[in-house]
Amino acid sequence: MNLKIVVPMMAFAAILGSCKEKPKEEPMKFTGIELSNLDTNINPGTNFFMYANGGWLKNNPMPEEYSRYGAFELLNIKNEEEVKSIIEEISKKNDLKTGSPEQQIRDYYKAAMDTSRIESMGYEPIKPILAEIAALKTTTDVVKMQAKLNFMGSYPFFATFSGQDEKNSSMVIANLYQGGIGLPERDYYTNTDERTKTIQKEYLAHIAKMFQLIGNDEKTALKNAKTVMDIETNLAKGSFTNMELRDPNATYNIYDLAKLQKEFPKFDFATYFSAIGVDSLRTINVGQPKFFANLSALFAKAKVEDLKTYLVWNVINSNAENLSTAFEKQNFYFYSTVFSGVDKMKPRWKRMIAFTNSNLGEPVGKLYVEKYFPAESKDRMVKLVGNLKIALNESIENLDWMSAETKVKAKEKLQTMNLKVGYPNKWEDYSSVVIDSTNFIQNNWNCSAFSYKKNLEEIGKPVDREKWGMTPQTVNAYYSPTMNEIVFPAAILQPPFFDPTADDAVNYGAIGVVIGHEMTHGFDDQGRLYDKNGNLSDWWTPADAENFKAKTQILVEQYNNYKILDSLHVNGELTLGENIADNGGLFIAYAALQKSYGEKGQPAPIDGLTSDQRYLISYAQIWRQHIRPKTLIRRLQEDVHSPGDARVNAGVANLSWWYTAFNVTEKDPNFIAPEKRAKIW
Ligand SMILES: [Zn+2]
Repeated sequence: MNLKIVVPMMAFAAILGSCKEKPKEEPMKFTGIELSNLDTNINPGTNFFMYANGGWLKNNPMPEEYSRYGAFELLNIKNEEEVKSIIEEISKKNDLKTGSPEQQIRDYYKAAMDTSRIESMGYEPIKPILAEIAALKTTTDVVKMQAKLNFMGSYPFFATFSGQDEKNSSMVIANLYQGGIGLPERDYYTNTDERTKTIQKEYLAHIAKMFQLIGNDEKTALKNAKTVMDIETNLAKGSFTNMELRDPNATYNIYDLAKLQKEFPKFDFATYFSAIGVDSLRTINVGQPKFFANLSALFAKAKVEDLKTYLVWNVINSNAENLSTAFEKQNFYFYSTVFSGVDKMKPRWKRMIAFTNSNLGEPVGKLYVEKYFPAESKDRMVKLVGNLKIALNESIENLDWMSAETKVKAKEKLQTMNLKVGYPNKWEDYSSVVIDSTNFIQNNWNCSAFSYKKNLEEIGKPVDREKWGMTPQTVNAYYSPTMNEIVFPAAILQPPFFDPTADDAVNYGAIGVVIGHEMTHGFDDQGRLYDKNGNLSDWWTPADAENFKAKTQILVEQYNNYKILDSLHVNGELTLGENIADNGGLFIAYAALQKSYGEKGQPAPIDGLTSDQRYLISYAQIWRQHIRPKTLIRRLQEDVHSPGDARVNAGVANLSWWYTAFNVTEKDPNFIAPEKRAKIW
């Protein structure tokens, strides 16, 4: 489990899964709009996504190793090549200082690529920890082992991490959050449809196979797998659903240690906190109290032997990719083939670049921006964001559904919103992390221990406002409601998102909408619940809140009606925050673009396309993508973002200028009557 997923952050695109391989040599040149990417045989009013992307989709089939393949993946491929070239360069150097980013990256990658050693070790590296688990006697021993595993990148039962106090956002407190399951979310344990039942069956078989790989006979392996499945199902039943998790007030519940012990008496929190080195705890946010009540009940009745089996599974599962091919392949089969429909694994070097990126994120990021991020990109972004702020400010001013009183506060929140572009002002000091060129798994544990310890050390301290939630080499962007800030890592400031050689319409339609999207997150159904200082506090008049809900309900219905596959539809409630942000982004970036034209008005068409057409096509093209049906179905359940084609087709149908730019009339399938269109911000 990646701890980052539980930190409040609204990202531009989903973080689940990663996709990285390059199929064939595709020229990485983007000068605005490539006409061959369009399919002009498609009627824009029937399917604008296909009109804007049909040519590209036809000419760029999805490689086997991908679950999804589009603009984000192409940039990830470029990233991989760049990081690899950095590693190759530093590998030629001999006199690298121990603890320097160069030494760490070089040796980490070297150990990761040493497959003959990794292969010859089999599961040898985890044997000592498995032996420790075998020797445990009591539930208190289990709790201590859980704490130890937390420093090895494994989070059985639940997750503990530091984060901003949502009602006192200048301070960092401890958080307890539901977790401990091996399937991506709780509904996979509780749903009873055919797809879920198949996944449950495959998961059980997968766990059993992994137990066999550490020497269990078939019968014992199956018995152990059933024990694990029972415990995880129990944890899942006590968990919040994805919908419940979207309510920040429901996940804010302040406890102290005494209250934890009183309400969840059978789980030994005092021992646990002491074992993770967090002793003087005054304020703990319990994300999901009912989950911890259920956990306490589980500890009251579970056999220690069963809890130990569950811990063994957590060790195997969290280390599967650190071990020999047999473990890696079984892990890939279950998590990629069964879940996402991908049959072929990426080559090892690409997987290990991804590992280097996730374990040594900032050291890699530092070298990455030195080599690949042009300083002028930052200045241009600051200017663009300024223009978007002006446009959103005017839009708030002109809203017909919001009172003057709430408008003042909304504008204050917008003006206070902080901006981070490119890379952090100060880099995390990784120099104490020991990276050895021969020990892959120990390197991973050292990185996990370092970042976990650093995370816990922040508890009880003031917030470090210089911190970033994504590395510079991440192709994404985010809004943090508790920081009230928008963040754009270096890697998204490239074509097709941001292209210094392209015309303004193209840039506003791409990075402009990304900026507007992130700004709007401060005012979506979740973000609006935080004030300008990042505190969860209601600054809305009741009437304005009602108006907002009525406005956003239009979007819920539009997306609920958006058909994906056969009888499958987008979940309009789950994706509401993202859809509000897309809607806002499209309106605000467009308004900023018109303002930038000033009195001269729109420029002459380029390649026969008007400014409006270029803006809309540019937006549609950032969402070009192939996606496997299994991945699509999976994402409809797990992802708070709508699929790419819905982000385009449902997005543009609310824009009056889309109708005029492409001559869309009530005869076209994607037509929405003007009075039924959504505009929130
Ligand atoms: Zn978003």
